[in-house]
Amino acid sequence: MSELRLADVRKVYQTRGGEDVTAVRGVSLEVGSGELVALLGPSGCGKSTTLRMIAGLEELTSGDILIGGRSMVGLPPQRRNIGVAFENYALYPPLSVAQNITFGLRARKRQGWQQRLTEITERLDLVDILDDKPGGLSSGQKQRVALARAIARQPEVLLLDEPLSHLDAAQRDTTRRELRRLQQDLGYTTILVTHDQEEAISLADRVVVMRDGLIQQVGTPEEVYDD
Ligand code: ADP
Ligand code: ADP
Repeated sequence: MSELRLADVRKVYQTRGGEDVTAVRGVSLEVGSGELVALLGPSGCGKSTTLRMIAGLEELTSGDILIGGRSMVGLPPQRRNIGVAFENYALYPPLSVAQNITFGLRARKRQGWQQRLTEITERLDLVDILDDKPGGLSSGQKQRVALARAIARQPEVLLLDEPLSHLDAAQRDTTRRELRRLQQDLGYTTILVTHDQEEAISLADRVVVMRDGLIQQVGTPEEVYDD
């Protein structure tokens, strides 16, 4: 696994009206190899924009993003080894759950994808719906498929945006536990956006709080939630 570094990253959106919206104002952050950082902050503070820039879905206005010391600037999403589970990062409707999860794995001729698929789908309780199409699934099931897809790619960096928000309380508990075990076993360098304090406390090594496009606070979950 590799460390992730954001160096003075800025993002200014040009709106259709010709107005500039500064979404991220100069964020510098290092996420260590295998570390899980929870990213918190009020709506509109720049969390999604930050994740989208790391994933390559949005260009940086300035600054640099490095994975394992290599700059990602200018690389399209498919050339970055990043697993994402975003709210609006849709599953492909015509493909089965299994095909959605393994999409890109076979294309990359990865070794051992079948074993990996079995392990991940068992741990995320997806075995019974592998042949189903996404259209017929509950939003909680879709969310677990998206998580499985992100992890199955064996990414260097995992980006999760509210990955458990559509699960009911019981499922959130079990999925959170599985996510924690997977993260510990596989050691992914992870950024997790969440509003859920319990999720941040149980999963995160460090918590980063953003406000108005800037990092306001960084600390252990205990430090941040003690304030
Ligand atoms: P968060 O994920 O923390 O809610 P966002 O990154 O979505 O924050 O948004 C940060 C700021 O950038 C907000 O002011 C938002 O309105 C603005 N913004 C986000 N996406 C766009 C876009 N595509 N065009 C213009 N402004 C945007
Ligand atoms: P948006 O609606 O924001 O454009 P999409 O969900 O359409 O986001 O996907 C954004 C990118 O991710 C596209 O380049 C698309 O090809 C890719 N993508 C979407 N679903 C999958 C998938 N199941 N496997 C691999 N890549 C995907």
